[in-house]
Amino acid sequence: NYMPAHSRTARSGVLFDAARRVIPGGVNSTARATWSGWTPYPLFVERGTGSRIEDADGNVYIDYLLGLGPMILGHRPPEVTQAVVDFIENRGTVFALPTADEAVLAEKIVAALPSVEQVRLCNTGTEAVLYATRLARAFTGRHKIVRFEGMYHGFSDAVYWSKHPSLEKAGPDSRPQPVAQGPGMPKGVEANLIILPWNDADALRDVVWTHGHEIAAVLTEPLMCNTGCILPEPGYLEAMRAITAEAGILLIFDEVITGFRLGLAGAQGRLGIKPDLSVFAKGLGGGFPVAAMGGRRDVMSLVDQGRVSMAGTYTANGIAIAAANATLDMLARPGFYENLDAVSDRLRLGLEDVLQDAGLPAHVVGLGPLMQVWFSEKPIRNYREAERHADQALFDRWWRGMLSRGVLFHPGAYENLFVSAAHSAEDVDATLDAARDTAQELLRG
Ligand code: PMP
Repeated sequence: NYMPAHSRTARSGVLFDAARRVIPGGVNSTARATWSGWTPYPLFVERGTGSRIEDADGNVYIDYLLGLGPMILGHRPPEVTQAVVDFIENRGTVFALPTADEAVLAEKIVAALPSVEQVRLCNTGTEAVLYATRLARAFTGRHKIVRFEGMYHGFSDAVYWSKHPSLEKAGPDSRPQPVAQGPGMPKGVEANLIILPWNDADALRDVVWTHGHEIAAVLTEPLMCNTGCILPEPGYLEAMRAITAEAGILLIFDEVITGFRLGLAGAQGRLGIKPDLSVFAKGLGGGFPVAAMGGRRDVMSLVDQGRVSMAGTYTANGIAIAAANATLDMLARPGFYENLDAVSDRLRLGLEDVLQDAGLPAHVVGLGPLMQVWFSEKPIRNYREAERHADQALFDRWWRGMLSRGVLFHPGAYENLFVSAAHSAEDVDATLDAARDTAQELLRG
């Protein structure tokens, strides 16, 4: 229950009961489901405004869920809304023919990211990952993809494995076995996957030594953002870059979460690593569905003449293009990321102080406007350490305590808190007040 706020969210409960009759689970994405932590029902949203979200009962929360990342400019950013409205009112939505605006957007992406020489657009991160892995297989003539336990790369059959595996089923620490996300995954797909622990260059080196000639790509988030937030150990991504380059394996950065968030050049710019292919989504569209996959010209050129097919009725539709062009213009304004980082650091360091002062076994891990609180005595470097050391029950109490004090983020310890350009220092200070009270509540047991 949303203790002690349950009675304040009664309308969400009523709406949830109605929705469940016609929508399985009452929601349209797993991350919003009761079994993802939204118990006894998810909050139903009336509207978002800047850094705030209002639920169906009129409760207002400071929003660090931010739609799981897209609302980097806050809710209803006027410039993006206006650009979309102008486009659809004056020009249209879908033509099945190109518009000049697509190349304008592609130019901005290519200019922002040194690793991206050409780029293709699509609608979701799931699609963009599917494109990138297909292209890597076509380019190398190899079939296996290395991916890491605890990450998420969308819900397509080929990669929806080993996100949150139960450790009994998942094999040894150094060489995990692929675990399907659930029933319905076609048998045999996993033969093309190699699952590794993250932050372990030796494990990667070993597998490339034995299977390198079969591996098309190493697919990774540059920061692990789907098992809370875990930063790469110093030298790890550099080692990954060197090992893959030497073996003719493409390095694919899944920057669906980090892209256009840790800077215009994403995590790769911030950390100084140049992948062969990259995938972007959430930060790109200011809340509208648009994604991009791009990288080396020699790899991307396989799409020329339809040798590798990438299609879609809605790719580069008017809404997506207008939203992304307007969003990138906002992100490119001088000082944008400096300001976003300053507010975000105030939150990350502030939360760290609050939790330390309370003497709770917790640390806040993140970079820029992306972070998560780990309730753990020990540092967490990969999925198995998270499973073994992180106190999920304490996180749950933390989440409920914050929610009841008007601060919203995802109930899952393996999700992230996001900060937007609409969050102010005052928002952060109000959040830290709520955190101080919640910390005292946690100590009382
Ligand atoms: N990759 C990563 C790293 C993600 O976090 C997500 C979504 N959370 C995806 C891919 C899939 O993106 P989408 O939900 O747009 O399909």
